[in-house]
Amino acid sequence: MTIESALLDIAIAPGNRIGGARATLDRTQPVVDPATGNTIADVPRSGQAEVNAAVAAAVAAQPAWAATSPQQRADILDRWAKLLADNADRLAAAATAEMGKILKESKGEVGRAITEIRFMSGEALRIDGQTLPSVRPDTLVYTTRVPVGTVAAITPWNFPIVSPVRKIAPALAAGDTVVVKPAEQSPLCALLLVDLLQEAGLPDGVVNVVCGRGSEVGDALVNHPDIKAVSFTGSTSVGRQISSAAGLRLIPVQLELGGKNAAYVDADADLDRAVPEIVAASIQATGQRCTAISRVIAHESIADELITRIAEAYDLLTVGPGTDSVDVGPLVSEDARKSVAAYLDGAIAEGAEVVTKRTEVPSGPYLAPTLLDRVTPDMTVAREEVFGPVLAVIRVADAGEAIRVANDSEYGLAGSIFTRDIATALRYANQLDTGMVHVNHGTSSQAHVPFGGAGASGLGPYSIGHAAQDFFTKVKVMYVSS
Ligand code: NAP
Ligand code: MG
Repeated sequence: MTIESALLDIAIAPGNRIGGARATLDRTQPVVDPATGNTIADVPRSGQAEVNAAVAAAVAAQPAWAATSPQQRADILDRWAKLLADNADRLAAAATAEMGKILKESKGEVGRAITEIRFMSGEALRIDGQTLPSVRPDTLVYTTRVPVGTVAAITPWNFPIVSPVRKIAPALAAGDTVVVKPAEQSPLCALLLVDLLQEAGLPDGVVNVVCGRGSEVGDALVNHPDIKAVSFTGSTSVGRQISSAAGLRLIPVQLELGGKNAAYVDADADLDRAVPEIVAASIQATGQRCTAISRVIAHESIADELITRIAEAYDLLTVGPGTDSVDVGPLVSEDARKSVAAYLDGAIAEGAEVVTKRTEVPSGPYLAPTLLDRVTPDMTVAREEVFGPVLAVIRVADAGEAIRVANDSEYGLAGSIFTRDIATALRYANQLDTGMVHVNHGTSSQAHVPFGGAGASGLGPYSIGHAAQDFFTKVKVMYVSS
């Protein structure tokens, strides 16, 4: 499929979605296909007025939405999931066109979004509370959960389908209304998702989308007095700003932030298993995943063989436009490519060695998957989130040194260990200071399991699964006496 024909198939009206209406603006910002450099759409560059209108629509819609029966909310979510399946090719083409990931991964993302919506449809009927013993006679004591109100959902570009879904679906299940601020680079998937929700029968105003810049629309949303909670996925630096602003307003945040995820490969690891898991977890989405493995901590006894095998696998990966059948697509932008290339130059200047051989890639924001050996824990490439197809190997003497290196990070999202020894695996897993730990497994998560991180990787209730109710509802305590 060519990019042009994919674009014709997408056909997404580029205006904001406010109160069930599509609203364009004279002031626009371009959406650029990283594979071609072409502008594929111009979306509104909104400001305070559009934020005010969207929040007003969401606030107005909230009481009636909260009063619907949970079964009605579940039914709408089920229809939405069905419409995602019917429109899977359009959604996948939109994701690939606006942020570059390969079509196979975009289709996988649609599938994952559908599964998460289906779980949340059931969740509308599973939101729970507690009953507690009462010390007073004839008094019933219990907790119940009520909607938070109108929630801001601020999403990144790297998962343009799953990120909005992961916030919208639990909000709808809980009876909340939503204003979505999609990333500047990838607003089209969010617009199409909300059009499909409208087709699924969602009342006007329950979910709204305002396109624009983070510093304008995102900031205005977080500071809007009628926004009662902010769910944000993105970089740690923006997460800190949002957390401070929300802290002043005393509203809850759910922050899903960056990572510097390490895989430890112990002396006895099954390399036939470890290598493909590490290659996939480091390269998917061109390394632009919060849970990407970006550090490999290698036991010195197997380090040479492990490095040779990963480098060989990397050199076989094909690189090109996401619409071709390649393994690795472009970075999201030329700026992103420059940033990753600067990390590589810096690492080499600090003493790291490039092991992979291939350097030629198509012209555009492409980089060859690159494996770095002789990285030490103090190097910038071992400490900062590179967000590209770059994997840094740190050699260690034993599992004790490995856990110290792994935990020597401000981040704490996910981590893996590869070993045949269950005692080593459990000791490492218990000591690793991350939100998620994987044993003999990359870092991919599942669609019904809580997801989140420690330290600079996240704050507030985890997303996905039953944990979502902790953010999207408020607890109310009831004492009932006759
Ligand atoms: P980003 O630059 O932090 O942007 C995320 C979102 O925040 C975008 O919609 C952005 O708008 C908006 N924003 C920017 N400044 C803002 C402000 N002052 N107030 C309110 N909103 C603001 O992150 P990104 O580059 O899109 O995404 C990559 C990052 O996301 C990586 O660090 C990655 O690890 C992280 N991530 C984490 C998870 C997770 O679940 N832990 C998942 C995926 C990605 P603009 O686009 O207009 O700037
Ligand atoms: Mg950005």
